[in-house]
Amino acid sequence: MISYSRPEGTERERKKMRMIWFDMDGTIADLYAVENWLPRLRASDPTPYAEAAVMLNMSLLARYLNKLQKHGYGIGIISWTSKDGSEEYNEAVASEKANWLHQHLASVSFDIMKIVDYGTPKHNFLKTENDILFDDNEAIRNEWTGEAYEPSEILSVLAELLHAE
Ligand SMILES: [Mg+2]
Repeated sequence: MISYSRPEGTERERKKMRMIWFDMDGTIADLYAVENWLPRLRASDPTPYAEAAVMLNMSLLARYLNKLQKHGYGIGIISWTSKDGSEEYNEAVASEKANWLHQHLASVSFDIMKIVDYGTPKHNFLKTENDILFDDNEAIRNEWTGEAYEPSEILSVLAELLHAE
C-alpha cells in the first residue's frame, strides 16, 4: 500500500478536518472505457491507468476543491490497486495513479492519498463521522458510515457545500 500525506498537511491532519474523499476508477478516471483494460491489468500492464480519460470538468472540480480546502475541508483519495496484483505491479499502479492526479488535477494539493490493496475497506479511513465519499461502487457507498454519493453527484454536492459556507 502506498500512503501519502503531504508534509505541510501534517498539522491539518491532526485537526480532524472533515474530509472529502474520492475514489478514482469509474468515479473520476474512466478506466473501464480504456480498450482491453481488463486483460491488460491481468497481464500486469499499468498503462491503462495512465490512459484513463477524465469523467468530469476537472478545472471546475479543481476550483471547487481549492475553495473548500480554504474553508477547512480536507481533500483525499482512497483508491484500490488492481485485483490480485503483485506487490511490484501494485507499486507501478500507485505511481500511475499519482501521475494521473498530478496531470489532471495539478492545482489540487491532496491532504491524504491512500492507494491501497484491492478490497481494503474504505471506511477504515474515515477521519470524522460525516466525511464525504464519492465512489462508483454501491457496496462501498453502503458500507461508508459518513455521507456517500455517486460520481454523477460530485459537482452538485460540492457546489452545495460551498453554498453553505
Ligand atoms: Mg471505483
